[in-house]
Amino acid sequence: MVALNEVPRRSYTDGPTPLEPLRRLSAELGGPQIWIKRDDQLGLTQGGNKTRKLEFLIADALNQGADTLITVGGVQSNHCRLTLSAARVEGLDCHLIVEEDLGPEGTALGPAGSNPPEYTGNFLLFDLLGANSVTVLGHGADLHGEAEILAEKLRAEGKKPYVIPVGGSNPIGALGYVDCAVEMLDQFAEAGVDSSTIVTPSGSTGMQAGLVVGLHSAGSDIPVIGINVSRTQADQEPKIVDLVDSTARFLDLPPVPRDATTGLGDYFGTGYALPTPGMVEAVRLFARTEGILLDPVYTGKAAAGLIDLIKSGRFTSEDTVVFIHSGGVPGLFARTQAFA
Ligand SMILES: *Cc1c(COP(=O)(O)O)cnc(C)c1O
Repeated sequence: MVALNEVPRRSYTDGPTPLEPLRRLSAELGGPQIWIKRDDQLGLTQGGNKTRKLEFLIADALNQGADTLITVGGVQSNHCRLTLSAARVEGLDCHLIVEEDLGPEGTALGPAGSNPPEYTGNFLLFDLLGANSVTVLGHGADLHGEAEILAEKLRAEGKKPYVIPVGGSNPIGALGYVDCAVEMLDQFAEAGVDSSTIVTPSGSTGMQAGLVVGLHSAGSDIPVIGINVSRTQADQEPKIVDLVDSTARFLDLPPVPRDATTGLGDYFGTGYALPTPGMVEAVRLFARTEGILLDPVYTGKAAAGLIDLIKSGRFTSEDTVVFIHSGGVPGLFARTQAFA
């Protein structure tokens, strides 16, 4: 087994993020005790879950002598914002390649310019943080292919680019959440939290896969329920399993059983980043009861899933559910119409 503290790592957050009880929300829902892991308070610009992945990814980039980062995502990508923020902190160049959102009912809209991004939220921050370039492509474009073409071009100019995949989700990025699992187990012990379930958004799967590997390697059998933000259960679970397997292999750990992987597909609505009534209700409820802002793309939909699971009796009042707030709040201000 490879010890995590032997893997090269940068540090972008001081100490563990808070683990807090949500007493008013728990009372309002009348179900299990709900706790929240405040990964929206991680470091870098308006930090979120990508900050943990980037600690390992950027260390790898620097070890390879990179002077330039290239990454990809949606026009409101938190991952792109945080990669760019890490580049600023490290003095690296950073190029972003992003795809336009889906149309209102989940329709792909075709070539670039079909659904141009508004100058707000994360897209505004790409500019403020001084991205070396931002390329906007139509929805469904081959982002990774374009990233490789750009990397080739930069290499020909004498640069040393390092390409980070969508969401930073490969075995190196997932190490951030292997580490987070151990951090949470320590906090549970300290606060006397007997967690029956962890609930988290599930997108490019790095966060969930890392948690599953980290919990399993620490001998914990706390289940992780992922709430998918873009895919059905049948499409998402094999992706989680793949990254669980490759992350466990990277760390030389024994394989993790497949039943440790759940990704529920009932809460993303008509498509990635498109608002749902449940998301709007969940964002309002967390704000009104606890003063906590969620985001419309990930944590709002995951919270809608959590609320539905509670209302449908999935947990007892003896249970303690830990919800991971993975960040993303800048995106809230790009979706204000959903709340009007
Ligand atoms: C990327 C992201 C997620 C999803 O994490 P994955 O590792 O991609 O599954 C959840 N919440 C926020 C705010 C994110 O930016």
